[in-house]
Formats: sequence, structure tokens, C-alpha cells
Amino acid sequence: MNSCITVLLADITTLHCDAIVNAANRSLLGGGGVDGAIHRAAGAELLEECRTLGGCRTGEAKITKGYRLPAKFVIHAVGPVYSGAREDAVLLADCYRNSLDLARENGVRTIAFPAISTGVYGYPVREATKVAVDTVKKWLADNSDYTMEVTFCCFDERTRKVYEEQTARIIG
Ligand code: ADP
Repeated sequence: MNSCITVLLADITTLHCDAIVNAANRSLLGGGGVDGAIHRAAGAELLEECRTLGGCRTGEAKITKGYRLPAKFVIHAVGPVYSGAREDAVLLADCYRNSLDLARENGVRTIAFPAISTGVYGYPVREATKVAVDTVKKWLADNSDYTMEVTFCCFDERTRKVYEEQTARIIG
């Protein structure tokens, strides 16, 4: 089985992947959006483990167990709050790359990402999707010795459509 990218319209907390990625905040102590949904579905033990991690810098990622989720692990990545600066894209790309590196270090073979930063953090969906897709494609090319199935888990139809368009595009 080769590495691949799939686009899905779903609630990420329902996915049976080795790891799901959380669009967390720097405290790692829960929040709204997908973060809140993941903490509710995983149960209080997730928050207990997150309390031991000492937060997370923007662009970086930390891993915990999945507890009551069908996913074995949660990778908590902190996306940038959109500001319109060039740095936004760098930090968003860091999130995807660092999450995939951490996944590989932990033997993850199937991983699902939400559209990091495109909710409360205000990143325009089209721009964020281009960064997400290009970064994941580049990581898969750079890690061609490792099989990884990547799912982009969209929560609304508009986002799914943008991901479908961008994944069909050649990297660049
Ligand atoms: P951020 O603070 O990084 O912007 P949000 O959670 O506000 O994070 O939004 C990120 C994306 O996650 C948005 O596209 C939002 O619609 C989506 N989202 C919210 N809940 C879920 C869920 N249960 N499963 C998948 N995606 C979700």
C-alpha cells in the first residue's frame, strides 16, 4: 500500500485512524471548535495528560493518547492566528510537518488533519488549504520510504470543495 491523501467530510472525533490532529491553542488545555469536540469525545483523561505537557509553541506539535476516541493518538498542533503576515504560512506549514514527523516517530500509518487555523484563528480557507496540501505532499515525497495515509477531514462542504480542488493540483 502506497502513501495517499484523501479528503473527507466528517467529524474528526469519529475517525478510526492511528492519530487525529487537534487544532489546539498554546495552553493545550482545551478550547472551542475542533479542540473542544476532541476533548469532549476523549474524556477528562486527555486534559489530565495535556496538563503535564507544559503547553506548546505556535507551529509545534505534541502527542498524547486518544483515550475514549477511536484514534490511538491525538497530535496537538498549534496553528497561527491569522495576521496577514508572511510568517503565517511558515507557521502553518510547520504545524503539518511537525505533526507528520511526530506521527512517524510514533509508528502512525493513518492520520487525519482538520483545517488548522481556519476557524476561530481566521486563516482564509483557500490560502490555508494550499499550505496544508503542499506541505503534506512535500512531506510524503521526502518520506517515500514510509507509508502514510493522510486524510484531510473537513467539517463543512465549502472547505471540502476547496480541499478537493487543491489536492487535484500538482504541488507548487
Ligand atoms: P482554529 O482555532 O485553529 O481556527 P477551529 O477549531 O476554530 O480551530 O477550526 C478549525 C477547523 O476545524 C474549522 O474548519 C472547523 O470548521 C473545523 N472543525 C470544527 N469541529 C470539527 C470536528 N468535530 N471535526 C473536524 N473539523 C472540525
